[in-house]
Formats: sequence, C-alpha cells, structure tokens
Amino acid sequence: MTDTPSTTTPGKPTTGAAPRTTSEDLAVNFAEIEAAATRLQGIARLTPVHQSRQLDTACNAQVMLKCENFQNTGSFKFRGAYNSLLLLKEAGHAGVVAFSSGNHAQAVALAGSMLGLATTIVMPNNAPKVKAAATRGYGASIVEYNPSTTQREKLAAEIAESSGLPVVPAYDYPHVIAGQGTAAKELFEEVGELDVLLVCCGGGGLLSGSCLSAAALSPDCRVIGVEPALGDDGARSFRSGRIETVHNPATIADGARTPYLGDLTFPIIQRYASDIVTVSDAALIETLRFLWERLKLIVEPTGALALAALLSGTEMGHLEIAPGARVGVTISGGNVDVSSAATLFGNA
Ligand SMILES: *Cc1c(COP(=O)(O)O)cnc(C)c1O
Repeated sequence: MTDTPSTTTPGKPTTGAAPRTTSEDLAVNFAEIEAAATRLQGIARLTPVHQSRQLDTACNAQVMLKCENFQNTGSFKFRGAYNSLLLLKEAGHAGVVAFSSGNHAQAVALAGSMLGLATTIVMPNNAPKVKAAATRGYGASIVEYNPSTTQREKLAAEIAESSGLPVVPAYDYPHVIAGQGTAAKELFEEVGELDVLLVCCGGGGLLSGSCLSAAALSPDCRVIGVEPALGDDGARSFRSGRIETVHNPATIADGARTPYLGDLTFPIIQRYASDIVTVSDAALIETLRFLWERLKLIVEPTGALALAALLSGTEMGHLEIAPGARVGVTISGGNVDVSSAATLFGNA
C-alpha cells in the first residue's frame, strides 16, 4: 500500500461484511479492561468529569465531559501504553518500538521511563513540535521520517526486527484497547448509566474500548464515534461493513489522520457502536473556541471532535438526542502548540 496524500482508495479487504461477530470472537473483553484498570490504579490519573450549565444549555442535554486532556502526557493514550508496556516488561522485554504522530509516542515514552524500558519512536517530521519535544523529554529515541514518502509501519517493523524489540501499535493491539477502555469505565462508575456516549475515532482504540465498557456498565447507552469529515474512513467503513481507507487527510484533527480502523477494533465497533458520524473542521474550530474561551479547557483539535458533533452538528450521520438526555463526551487530549492557536482561531 502506498501513502498518497488525500486520496481515497477502495480499502483493505476484510473477512467481513456478512456475519456479525459474537462477543466470543472479539479481541478484547470487559474482564481485560477491569484487569487494565487494576494495573493503572494509582498510576494513571482518575481524570475529572466536567459539567457546565452553559454547555448543557448550548446542547439542550445534560453533558458530562470526561477530561482526558488532564491525563498523564495529556491524552488517554497513556492508559493503553502503560498497560501494554507493563505486560511486555513482565514477559521479559527490555524495550519497545512505536510509531506515532504524537500522543501515543509521548505515552509510550513516559510509560517506558516509569517502567525502565527503552523506547524508540518512529515519528513523522511534520508532527506537532510540542509532541515531539515532550516525547524526547520523556527519554525516548526518536527516528524521524517523511510521511509522504515513507510508510511508518514498515520502518517501525524494520527497526523492531533489527533490534529484536516488540512494536506497540497505537490502537490495533488488545492491551492498548483494554487500557483505553478504562476511561469510559471510570466515567460510568462515577456518573452512572448514560443515554449516549460520544467518542472521537482515529484507528478506533478508544472507541472500541469505550464500547466494551458501555456494553458492560450501561448496556442501553448508545455509543457513537466521531471523525473529522476529511478523514471519514471509519464512518464509511461502519456503513459498508468493510474497512475503508483515507490516506493523509488534511484535517486539523491530527490524532484522527489514521488511514483506517484496525482489524481488531473494527469488529468491536461494528458489534457495539450505534454509529460513526463526522464533523467539519469548521465545526471543530467553533467547538475548540467554546472549550478554550468559555470552559477554560485547553483541548487539542482531535480532542474536541466528540463535543463538536453535539455542539455544532454533524456532516455524515445524524445525532438524535432527546432533550435533557444524559450524554457523556470524551475529551481525548490537550496537546496543542500554543503558538499554533493564532492560526487555528484566526488572527482576529
Ligand atoms: C489517538 C488519539 C485519538 C484517536 O484514538 P484512536 O484510538 O486511534 O481512535 C483521539 N484523540 C486524541 C487526542 C488522540 O491522541
């Protein structure tokens, strides 16, 4: 597969449109999320659930924001990374390799330094500066590549092979999915059952984990994934029943530029999610402005996707939310170059 900018291709064939999977076929179950939560206890932050009358009025719903922008390393990715690295350490590995445009990189780097594991991160040379600097600061070695000419999976696999170290993928990996699922688990344990849970979606690690926690703790809750309209591979995959691909979409939501859902995450999402909807970058910027200015929450573009669907409306798919419904929204991360804010919000 080649990396061509902003093109859509028919997508990776998968085993399947036809049979709906049963929960026994899925890569992760709720017991593994509970085990991950035990490993993360006292290590990951129990992030706050933020509520605001202003927000409730704007959305005509009772909105609960699970603020993973306050998680260690500034995103939920720390959960899956730490859970995975702890298990790899227990299996005898001395280090790991990862590829990421940012938040997974920081998460793996910090988890590695906490656990005494060496970390090598393959990172695009256009990654946000704040993310690259933080990753280096946590002690990782960074290998940069040009995303328009090099396929990062291949480069990471080559490094892993020559060093004998395992690759920790950002989403399509059972221990990562289990770790990410602990965020929604905490939310349900804190606020009780919900009518709807909105979760942003890149490769689907956070969404699939959230689906599993919802199915166990709030079975009537509709879980809805949210993607940028420019990178709508997941929304289209959800509709077609096979994994569709969008390469290097030009969205400001850099954490959701992943080209496709995973072979492990997609079946979980197909089974448990109610829909995947999309929002425009313009809606995303409006929402970011609301989060920064009104709620005083510094959230990165990708981190605001789920709230944008509720606050500013959707492009593909439609959210039907009853007035006053109890709606959970995952705010997934807060790593943004403050120097890019002027560009983001316009210089006005
Ligand atoms: C990685 C990331 C996402 C997307 O998560 P997936 O598990 O790949 O779907 C969303 N928001 C932020 C802030 C991220 O770092």
